[in-house]
Amino acid sequence: MKVVLALGSNLGDRFETLQGALDSLFDAPGLDFVAVSPVYETDPVGGPEQGPYLNAVVIAQTTLDPWTLLERAQGEEDAFGRVRTERWGARTLDVDLIMVGDVVSDDPRLTLPHPRAHERAFVLVPWLRVDPDAVLSGRRVADLLTGLDQDYVRLRTDLTLQRPI
Ligand code: ATP
Ligand code: CA
Ligand code: CA
Repeated sequence: MKVVLALGSNLGDRFETLQGALDSLFDAPGLDFVAVSPVYETDPVGGPEQGPYLNAVVIAQTTLDPWTLLERAQGEEDAFGRVRTERWGARTLDVDLIMVGDVVSDDPRLTLPHPRAHERAFVLVPWLRVDPDAVLSGRRVADLLTGLDQDYVRLRTDLTLQRPI
């Protein structure tokens, strides 16, 4: 199955965290790297006052079931998240499952596709960049983006994530 993951960080060494998370996500079997988007700097949407995020979207192939993927994603958050417990509102690492094949789930512990991805330019802009034909719940990501403010999503040409080893 195809998997789309969204990575975000707004605390600590944000770029180092994204690269570290990317590397260790693919450390274990069952998840194969396909591509990673450019890095974008984005102003936080909602939530308390906090610093800007670095965001990227990762495309992968998997033989794992969605719950195992969620565990892996949350394991990464834990591994990189110790600092964030001291800072209210900000996070060293957020890993969201945007879609997993054509799996549909309305379980609040794992909702697929991600229930807010369709309205988030900080997810859709990097996703479209790494996959110009991307489709979310039957709608082209390019079309979803036409109605959204994208001014707060800025390409960081000086930061490029390396494919995991
Ligand atoms: P948002 O989901 O709006 O991006 P968030 O990323 O800040 O908010 P978290 O605190 O990271 O939210 O996660 C809260 C819970 O969301 C997690 O414990 C997880 O069980 C659940 N969840 C539901 N669907 C998903 C999904 N598609 N990907 C990741 N977590 C999910
Ligand atoms: Ca999130
Ligand atoms: Ca999350």
